[in-house]
Amino acid sequence: MNSLNTKAGVLLLTLATTFIGSAHAAAPYDLVQPKMREMIKVANQAMNSGNIEKAIAYTDLILVQSEIKYSINTDNIPDYQRDSSRSAAHKAIDAWTEALDGEVKFTEVEPSQANLRIKFETDVRSVGSEVAGYAVWQRQVYDWGNGNYSPKLSGDISLRSKTPTGRDMPEGAIIHSACHEIGHLLGLWDSPNFGDVMGPLHLKKPITKPSEAEVSALQEARQVAQEISQTCQAQKAANGYKH
Ligand SMILES: [Zn+2]
Repeated sequence: MNSLNTKAGVLLLTLATTFIGSAHAAAPYDLVQPKMREMIKVANQAMNSGNIEKAIAYTDLILVQSEIKYSINTDNIPDYQRDSSRSAAHKAIDAWTEALDGEVKFTEVEPSQANLRIKFETDVRSVGSEVAGYAVWQRQVYDWGNGNYSPKLSGDISLRSKTPTGRDMPEGAIIHSACHEIGHLLGLWDSPNFGDVMGPLHLKKPITKPSEAEVSALQEARQVAQEISQTCQAQKAANGYKH
């Protein structure tokens, strides 16, 4: 919603989020999504019960398989806004690439091959309210039986190119929105803190990269997944030698 915070006198635009799938109950101020925590538990339990393939599928999902293939669609915004909007989205992606030390590779592809589709619109709404950005995503492990599992991550991000009053969204605000929504894809939860990219967007003071706290929260979760994955890969190799 485009609301005027009278105390601080700032214009705020909400960054909306929507989940497909299970309900979530957030522990206070955990910057990592409860769903991610849950998946780490599932991976750990699968590993401990010897279901190595399942554990690996879950850790792959948590680690986004080290690659996000994305597309950017600017068809619905005016011509003159297309290059700058695309460039702002790229800046958000660069910010994440840098924050994660290149551990997650972002590759731009055709929409049909993308698991993350980024779309610009002049107006973006969530449940009727004007929002700066909006993300819908799905993280799922398919169980095909016989010990075969495949992880699937997909997401759609909508970003606003115009403010609710019809001006062009400032570049920094688009970067903030894009960075925020990509953060959800990577496993972060909304932050209550100004100064966090997962926090509220202040149009005049946008945050253009994840904060140290956000990066370390995400990295800590990824590290746990990485360790489970490595243990499982080693177990798998050891099993292989027995044959
Ligand atoms: Zn959010």
